[in-house]
Amino acid sequence: MADMLIKLHRNPLTSRLVKALGVPNPVTLARADGGYTARPFEGKHALLCRSAGGYAADALRRALADAGASHVDQLPADSTVRADLVVMDATGCAAPDDYRALYDAFHPIMRRIARNGRVLLVAASPEACATPAAMAVSRGMEGFVRSLAKELGAKGITVNQLYVERGALERLPGPLRFFCGAQSTYVTGQVLHVTAQVTAPAATPFSKALAGKVALVTGAARGIGRATAERLAQEGATVVALDVPAAEEELRRVCGAFGGVPLAMDIASPAAPQQLAAFLGERFGGVDIVVHNAGVTRDKTLANMTQPQWELVMQINLAAVMAIDAHLLERGLVKRDGRIVCLSSVSGVAGNFGQTNYATSKAALIGYVAAQAPLLAPRGICINAVAPGFIQTAMTEQMPFMTREIGRRLNSLKQAGLPRDVAELITFLSTPGASGITGNTVRVCGQGLIGA
Ligand code: NAD
Repeated sequence: MADMLIKLHRNPLTSRLVKALGVPNPVTLARADGGYTARPFEGKHALLCRSAGGYAADALRRALADAGASHVDQLPADSTVRADLVVMDATGCAAPDDYRALYDAFHPIMRRIARNGRVLLVAASPEACATPAAMAVSRGMEGFVRSLAKELGAKGITVNQLYVERGALERLPGPLRFFCGAQSTYVTGQVLHVTAQVTAPAATPFSKALAGKVALVTGAARGIGRATAERLAQEGATVVALDVPAAEEELRRVCGAFGGVPLAMDIASPAAPQQLAAFLGERFGGVDIVVHNAGVTRDKTLANMTQPQWELVMQINLAAVMAIDAHLLERGLVKRDGRIVCLSSVSGVAGNFGQTNYATSKAALIGYVAAQAPLLAPRGICINAVAPGFIQTAMTEQMPFMTREIGRRLNSLKQAGLPRDVAELITFLSTPGASGITGNTVRVCGQGLIGA
């Protein structure tokens, strides 16, 4: 499963050859294996930049300090110090001339951001902009962020953007910790909206962030679902890990390792929503976090696709998700401060050859979370979608060698992601600290070139 190119570049016997051939040299990505800590940025060099007239800098400064960062307004000119985190408040940019603040902030430091560093740009929410010019300028930040992510990806540096409303500044610490932390390794070139649409929970713990919560993860016997179940449990949640009856033995083994509750069930069976609601209601009085991870592919060109192949994918990937949510929500079983995360795919964003069924179901989930978000906001529930790109799982290991090698390089980080990388994003979206984020679809794809 190890990345062959990373191994060849690190081996003294082969490194000269692969360099001479000009093949990509992917950086070894820094990853967290532990849970969240209260002061994750202790010992890190943070740089906080700002455009004139912005409104987020004070909130960002406080959030960085609370997370333990020693932040400075400028890197010393003659020093070899590199910035581990660069955060910019660009909320003051409202006219084309204001873009100069981006150039002035980033041009001098482009070679002074540490490997595996983090860049986070905070822009004014386009919806809150008073004029078309201000909205255009705010929206233009996305072009800057996505280009910067492509320029810095070779060093494992991620670049992401938050649009934030003035009324949602107190929601910034959670996203700031994620996007400036080791957990966001494979999330780059992404743009999220932070709003005050959903009431903030009474407490937003930043370590053991999910203590006391009950989480349901479907498709948890292997791959991304298994990594997610383990990660949520690591953060203190009681995890109900669901998978098909045929996977029950594996599911029990997986659950044994982290104290999860195995539940063998086919989510697409007609009785599943009712049985699931009864199980969660009777055993736990409801559920705090629902991760709709179970999904299948039945790839064929449309000309060759059978109707059962079409139907099965729609049933499992989409209809079952909506039926389960409808059942749980109608009965008030998703608790206040609840979180729902749906697994979409970059195929849902961009489409894919041979995946008309799969891409339709995954694109539908993007529409689903956008439509559900305002309906669930009054109940304190956030709902988002996560769209993985090329993630190294047993499934992708079975692809033909060349297809796999090409597929995993087509992103700014030049390598595949790991199930844990997706689990990290899902876990962040499940935390109380993510109360500002709802209705978003976030890709975890190393800024895949497809659909970018
Ligand atoms: P996987 O095939 O390794 O695991 C999926 C799990 O879901 C399996 O354990 C399977 O038994 C379970 N499952 C399938 N149908 C079910 C049903 N009807 N009821 C209950 N459980 C069921 O998949 P993965 O690679 O870990 O992907 C997880 C999710 O992420 C899927 O929704 C997938 O579409 C999405 N995704 C994965 C990738 C990737 O590169 N791996 C990329 C984009 C999206």
